[in-house]
Amino acid sequence: MKKDLPKTITEVEEIRIETDLLIIGGGNSGCFVAIEAKEKNPDVDVTIMEKAHIDRSGALAAGMDAINTYIGEGETPESIVAWSRAQVGGGPLREDLALSNAAILNQCVESLEAWGVPFKKDEKGRYKRRGRFDISIHGEQLKPIIAEKTKSYNPRILNRVAATNLLKDGDRVIGAMGFGIRDGKFYVIKAKATVVSTGGAAGLYRSATNDGTTSHHQMWMNPFNVGTGYAIGIRAGAEFTLMEQRWCATRVKDFCGPVDTISVGYKAKMINAKEELILDSPRYSDLGGDTAPRYIRANAPMSEWSEGRGPTFVDTRNLSPGQVKDLKIDYLNERPTYVLFLAARGQDPAKEPLEIYGSDPYIVGGHTASGYWIDGDRMATLAGLFAAGECAGGMPNKFVGGCAAEGVLAARGMLKHISGMDHGKLDQNQVAAEKERVFAPLLRGATLEAKYTMPVGQDPRWQYDAVTPEEMEERLQRLMDEYAGGVGQFFKCNEEQLNYALKHIGMMKKQLNKLFATSLHDLVLVHDVVDRLDVAEVVVLHLRERRECRWPGWQTRSDYPEVDPSLDCYINSRKNLKTSEIEMLKRSYQQVLPGDRTKAPSPIPLSAEKA
Ligand SMILES: Cc1cc2nc3c(=O)[nH]c(=O)nc-3n(C[C@H](O)[C@H](O)[C@H](O)COP(=O)(O)OP(=O)(O)OC[C@H]3O[C@@H](n4cnc5c(N)ncnc54)[C@H](O)[C@@H]3O)c2cc1C
Repeated sequence: MKKDLPKTITEVEEIRIETDLLIIGGGNSGCFVAIEAKEKNPDVDVTIMEKAHIDRSGALAAGMDAINTYIGEGETPESIVAWSRAQVGGGPLREDLALSNAAILNQCVESLEAWGVPFKKDEKGRYKRRGRFDISIHGEQLKPIIAEKTKSYNPRILNRVAATNLLKDGDRVIGAMGFGIRDGKFYVIKAKATVVSTGGAAGLYRSATNDGTTSHHQMWMNPFNVGTGYAIGIRAGAEFTLMEQRWCATRVKDFCGPVDTISVGYKAKMINAKEELILDSPRYSDLGGDTAPRYIRANAPMSEWSEGRGPTFVDTRNLSPGQVKDLKIDYLNERPTYVLFLAARGQDPAKEPLEIYGSDPYIVGGHTASGYWIDGDRMATLAGLFAAGECAGGMPNKFVGGCAAEGVLAARGMLKHISGMDHGKLDQNQVAAEKERVFAPLLRGATLEAKYTMPVGQDPRWQYDAVTPEEMEERLQRLMDEYAGGVGQFFKCNEEQLNYALKHIGMMKKQLNKLFATSLHDLVLVHDVVDRLDVAEVVVLHLRERRECRWPGWQTRSDYPEVDPSLDCYINSRKNLKTSEIEMLKRSYQQVLPGDRTKAPSPIPLSAEKA
C-alpha cells in the first residue's frame, strides 16, 4: 500500500462543487451536451465528470471509420426511423424519440466536419456513402477533435473522476458523487440538472476473446464503460426499458474487430465451413438474406456454429490488392491493431478468408434500445436526471451521429428544466454513507495488508479472507456467459438458467463487503464490478420477463422459441427503494409512423450501417 493512501475515512479529502449542469461522462454525447448548453447560454455553469480523459475516452477513443447514420439524398427523417424500426424487427422502439433525433441528426454530423474531422467524399463532393445511411470518414482523430471543441467553451472538466452514485433530494436528482481515480479525493457535485452519458456496459459477460488470462479487456467495446450510468440510475429508482435487448454482433474471431467494415464496405459475403453462403442460403433468404435485420445477420454465423457448420468466415478472396489496402486503411482509422494482428499471422485477406464469430453481449442503448426510460426532453423518471447517448433507452441505431444528437436534445431539455430552479437540499448523511461505501474496500485493503506479511516479491493477497475485484469479475462474467445467454451458449437461455444466474448474482452481492483494494486502480475495478452486478441483475430480470424469442441472438429464449404478439410492448423495470426489489412493468407500444413496422419504405440495399 502506498503511503499516501488513506487509512481512515477522515483522511479522505473532500471536494465540493456547485454547478448548473453536471455531465457524467465526457464521451461523444456528453461533449455534445456541453457544447450545445454553452452555445445556447454562455453563462451557464457546466461541469463534466469524466472517468478517463476527455481527449481520448469512450467508444470513440480508438477512432471510427464511419458514421452509421446520416440522412443522405433521397432519404428523410421518417425514412431513417422506418429503417431503424425494421432493423429491430418492427420494434418495439420509441418512434417519438427517434423522430426528434432524426430531425437534428444531420446538423450534428455536419458539425463534426466543420470542426475538422475529414469526411470521405464521392465524385460529386457529397459524403461518400457506404450503405443506405452509412458514410465513411477518416475518424482516427474524432474524439480529440470533439474534445478540443468542448474545451473551447471552458466548461469545468474533472478528468479521471468516476461517478459512483447520484445525489438526491427526495425524488429529485441534485447531482452526483464520485472519486478521483488518480487523486483519491471524494467529489460531491451539486447540480440543478444532471445528465448521465457514460456510454454502455461492457464486461457483464465473459469476453468472446478471453483466453483465461488478462485478455479479458480484449473486447469489442471500450472496457472502461462498465455500465455505471445505468447502475447509478438503477440504485436511485429510475425506470429502465428494454434491457433484455442486448447487442451481440459478428466480429473478427480472436480479435473482436468490426466485420461490417468488410462485409458492408467491401461486399464480402459470409460463408460457413462448407464454403456455403450463409445469408443467401434457404435458412436465411426468407428472413431477408443479406439485407435481413441486423440481429439476424449477427446471429446467423453463431447458428451455423451451433448447428455444426462452423467455423464461419467473410470471404475476402475476391478483393483486389487495392481493396485489401483500403480495407487496412479503414481498420487503421478505427481498429489499428487489427492490421498488426493480420501481419503477425502473416495473413493476406486476398488469399485467405477472415474468420468471424459472435461477440459477447453488451448493453448499449445507442445500438439496441436498452437504457433509461426518458421523455421528449430526455429527462428520466426522476426529476432533474437526464440521459444521453448509449444511456438513453428506447431508441436503437443511434451510433455516433444519433448519440451526439441525443446530447444536443438533452442539453436543451436541461436548460429548460433549470430555469428558475434552485440547487436542492444536500443531505449530509447521504454524502457520508456514499463516502464510506466508496472507500471501504480501500480501507479494508489497508487492514489486510497490515495483518499479513509475505516475503518481498510475492503476492500476499492469496491469504486474505477477502475477494479481489478480478475474482468477482471473472465469476460474474462466467455466470452470465453460461446462464444468461452468453456467446458460449450461442446466446440461448431458459427460465431455469436465468433463475440460477439471479440466485448467484444475489450470492455475489452478499459478498460485496469482502471486496478489497490496495491501490486506487483496484478501487476502480471494485466499483466497476459492483456496478456490473447491478446492471447484470436487471438484464437477467428483463431476459426472464420476455418469455418469447423476439430478436434471436440479441434475446433468445430456448424455452419460448416463438414471437409472442402479446409481448409487443416495452418491458420496463425500476427498483422499489422501500423493498430494494426490482419491479417489472410493461408499457404499450406507441406507433407514430404508419405502415408495416417490419418494412422500411424502400428496398434496403446490402446492409446499411456498421459498428
Ligand atoms: C468499438 C466501437 C466501434 C464503433 N463503430 C462505429 C462506427 O463506425 N460508426 C458509428 O456511427 N458508430 C460506431 N460505434 C457506436 C458509437 O461510437 C457510439 O454509439 C457512441 O459514440 C456512444 O456515445 P456515448 O456518448 O453514449 O458514449 P461514449 O462516447 O462511450 O462516452 C461515455 C463516456 O463516459 C465515461 N464514463 C464511463 N463511466 C464513467 C463514470 N463512472 N464516471 C464518469 N465518466 C464515465 C467514459 O470514459 C466515456 O468518456 C462504435 C462503438 C464502438 C464501441
